[in-house]
Amino acid sequence: MSVSTLRCILCKAELPPDNKPEHILLDALGGRATTKIATCPECNNNFGSGPDQELAKSVELVKNSCLFKSGSGSNPPTIKNFVSDGHRFDIRPGMSLGIKQKSPLSVAVTDNDVTVSISAYSDADAENFIRGAATAIAKKLGRPDPKVISAIEEDIAKDRKTTFQPAPIVKGEINLGSSAAMRAMAKACLVLWTRVVGNEELQLDQYDSIRAYINDGYGFDEVSFGADARPIPPSIPYRYSAYPNFIWVGSNGEGTVYGYFRLYGAVGWGFKLRQSDAPPNKTCLLISNPFENHIWDITSGDDGEIENNWFWHSHGQSPEDAQAAISHINRLLKQCEETNLNNFYINLMKHHFQKLGYEEGDLPSNDDIIEVTRKVAAAMAAQILRREIPTD
Ligand SMILES: [Zn+2]
Repeated sequence: MSVSTLRCILCKAELPPDNKPEHILLDALGGRATTKIATCPECNNNFGSGPDQELAKSVELVKNSCLFKSGSGSNPPTIKNFVSDGHRFDIRPGMSLGIKQKSPLSVAVTDNDVTVSISAYSDADAENFIRGAATAIAKKLGRPDPKVISAIEEDIAKDRKTTFQPAPIVKGEINLGSSAAMRAMAKACLVLWTRVVGNEELQLDQYDSIRAYINDGYGFDEVSFGADARPIPPSIPYRYSAYPNFIWVGSNGEGTVYGYFRLYGAVGWGFKLRQSDAPPNKTCLLISNPFENHIWDITSGDDGEIENNWFWHSHGQSPEDAQAAISHINRLLKQCEETNLNNFYINLMKHHFQKLGYEEGDLPSNDDIIEVTRKVAAAMAAQILRREIPTD
């Protein structure tokens, strides 16, 4: 087949000779494998800002909490202006919360009195606000030189009170399997199948049903095999973690083609890609470890990592399935939360030693150790007792 006959598997437009590589498993889900023989730039763009984005967004809390990097190695994006537990905050990668203070700084200057009120959620913020207030006061006094500013800074800092507050509880919806996200998963299956059987096979009308579903959501009942949350097979090698993303495609003896997309090991969705008469008995598995996305593989699917029968085994959604999927995701989040909290305490301790002038590897004095330990213990108490704990 010559290059010029390659057509988009979604809209059948001719693929340009310099077609860009497309991720089979989304880059945002840690995918690294790509192909240039599946979709045209326009369909790729439309999906990138549509269903693919929706799929990525539906798991943003999981990605952020667990620091799951994209296939190209970037951190999960900060989730802006998240509202939970009576607070508004940005969630930075690793569930580090940037809490927004409603009125962090107010400065009132009268003829003979200056009142400064500052509240901040971090040392760095507090120092910035203090500097800002000192500069503003010095200007109002008509003496904006650095010496005056730093004297005012010291004066403000003298009355500084520090407390630790418990981090707000982050409660958000993880909506696995919205209709657009499912179309993105069906597309991923079809792209992987293209890699197995080639582009020409995908140009056949027999793929029009799955195309209509992927493009516009039409005919879901015809192409859906349902969702399931069976435990993932124990034969999956440990290196992919207990929460792998995997996509499997396969045809049986009659040439019925089936695709399956499993998200974080929790829930899988099945799609019928072609009714019958496709090249028979072909399979392919793409599997990836979300914690370490350089650990991934595409195998021919019959290497024993997952028995083909496991995929063909009939399944349907049941209440137990939904509960199993929720428990699975909760186990994952709990594990990541413990790691994040641990890192928080370690970084807090490092931060306070640095503030006392220590560098990595220095041995602090006993007094300083006690001082810093007191601060970290206060932070822990705030978290456990869920109340504000003074540290001064
Ligand atoms: Zn297209």
